[in-house]
Amino acid sequence: MKPETNIPFDNSFARLPEAFYARQTPEKAPAPELLVFNEILANDLNIKVEPSDIAEIFSGNEIPNGADPIAQAYAGHQFGNWAGRLGDGRAILLGEVIDREGQRQDIQLKGAGRTMFSRGGDGRAWLGPVLREYVVSEAMHALGIPTTRALAAVATGAPVLREQGPLPGAVLSRVAKSHIRVGTFQYFASTGDNPNLRVLFEHTVARHYPHVGTPLELLRAVLKAQSELVAKWMGVGFIHGVMNTDNCHIAGQTIDYGPCAFMDEFRGMQVFSSIDQTGRYAYSNQPNMAAWNCAQLATALLNLEPNRDTAIEAFQDEIGTFGEIFMADYLKVFGAKLGLSTPIAEDADLIETVLSAMQSEGADFTNTFRALTDDSFDARPEWHSSWTDRVAREPNAREVMEAANPVIIPRNHQIENMIASAVNGDLSPIKYLNTALQTPFDPQNDDALRRPPEPYEKVAATFCG
Ligand code: AMP
Ligand code: MG
Ligand code: MG
Repeated sequence: MKPETNIPFDNSFARLPEAFYARQTPEKAPAPELLVFNEILANDLNIKVEPSDIAEIFSGNEIPNGADPIAQAYAGHQFGNWAGRLGDGRAILLGEVIDREGQRQDIQLKGAGRTMFSRGGDGRAWLGPVLREYVVSEAMHALGIPTTRALAAVATGAPVLREQGPLPGAVLSRVAKSHIRVGTFQYFASTGDNPNLRVLFEHTVARHYPHVGTPLELLRAVLKAQSELVAKWMGVGFIHGVMNTDNCHIAGQTIDYGPCAFMDEFRGMQVFSSIDQTGRYAYSNQPNMAAWNCAQLATALLNLEPNRDTAIEAFQDEIGTFGEIFMADYLKVFGAKLGLSTPIAEDADLIETVLSAMQSEGADFTNTFRALTDDSFDARPEWHSSWTDRVAREPNAREVMEAANPVIIPRNHQIENMIASAVNGDLSPIKYLNTALQTPFDPQNDDALRRPPEPYEKVAATFCG
């Protein structure tokens, strides 16, 4: 490693008790090759990595000074069923840095090999999901949605065996405010380890919610963060796809871009994930699922209450507030999409009418809202006059809509094309897409990226990778 390379690690999670993780060195990559590197993010993170060191470090081949690689323990419910202990089966936390804004950030290698939590898996990732997460998470960030970030994607030079056959292996360097999930709390609750549950509570509060004093207040804060997050997802037509409790970030960042997708045509019960047979994580079910995840957090946190039986009611009441909190967050997001900066409760009807008309027309979600924004919406459906009447009373409708209705989103077919090119060694589509998605609200964006898929280009299902 070059002496100029410097990542100023300060690893608070690795200083917690041993029960929180297992120390784990990443597996060696035979021929690491850099695919994409996020220089702006690296700079924001206060890290300096010499170009010749990037592929070595972010493949896991070289452990930089100050790193303390660990696999974190967590548990969780998957599709509503208790799955017991899960843990980082293919991710290794290198350590934490303090960014230029003073925010502590994890740097994690995803796909860096087996850990004690891997069970049957190979601990690896292939190029497709790695590039997908890179582009989509960075696009989400540019869309103003709380999310983990992507720092680097590196090909390992080792093939990964999947159902489709051998595929090129890759490692994604993921940056997050932490990797604490609802499932981390469930882990210590399920093992009856109350002292460490208390340690986790205190670590989480200090790190994410310094104003919080009690478990109930933590629940309230997480509930609010999840409500805002899901409302923002829905505002861009995003379907997470695997809202399991182990993928429910305690600070409300979007995490785990497995089978996620953006809708083209609006459909309330849209599902893309091939493993979501019942539509549990369908677009419109996401708020219910966030509330369900918060209820699992509540169950875990109740173990911190000396008098569980008296505390339980307050915790239940707190979960009961989710619906109302979410309605307000949703109204704010969709109100803005219609130019209403101060939406009132009655506006919910207008929003519903617009969305159900879009659904019956099979209208493109992103392009319809943007056409309304740009005055290029030609049709005059029934709701149009109620909307123009309502929006006439709003002072900055156009500005509000321009900031709420992206011109481009990462469409599934573009992602698939970009992956297919990368597998064939052509990285120009991913670079082009990634660059355009840094400014998703810019009207100058290319028509090719605004175009919905032709029938033959439509992606019917997404996979976990
Ligand atoms: P996910 O559904 O991606 O949130 O992952 C759920 C669990 O499966 C976690 O414990 C992961 O670490 C584990 N897992 C997923 N993919 C792999 C893999 N390729 N190798 C080992 N473990 C994996
Ligand atoms: Mg996960
Ligand atoms: Mg996953």
